[in-house]
Amino acid sequence: MDITVEPDIYCPIIDNNGNYQDNCPAFIKYGIKCPCGARDNWIYDSKQKFKQHIVCGKHRKWIQQLNNSKMNFYQENIKLQETVKMQQEIIGRNDMKITNLIAINRYLESKTIVPIHNQSVDLLEIDI
Ligand SMILES: [Zn+2]
Repeated sequence: MDITVEPDIYCPIIDNNGNYQDNCPAFIKYGIKCPCGARDNWIYDSKQKFKQHIVCGKHRKWIQQLNNSKMNFYQENIKLQETVKMQQEIIGRNDMKITNLIAINRYLESKTIVPIHNQSVDLLEIDI
């Protein structure tokens, strides 16, 4: 069995004042992707390359935007929690439907219909 190793997704730290701040990881073992958008899907494979990246203008602007929209993240988090709760309820209801359908299917499969030669069977008349 092959095990695919995915690169880490970079996440800046939050300093004592609650601001996002860059902090290059101590080790980059399987590469790291940065969500700042400077280079889409680019994997930085060394600490040195990543340190060069986090000083580029687009990355610095991304950190600044994170700090400017901190309250929006809080609001967005609340909305996402509500969405997750609703989706869990939907999944729970669908799981119950699937369980019922599986039970009905097993019951129907257990019924054996013995066809009578040259005689049609009206499936609607079968009592299940
Ligand atoms: Zn970046």
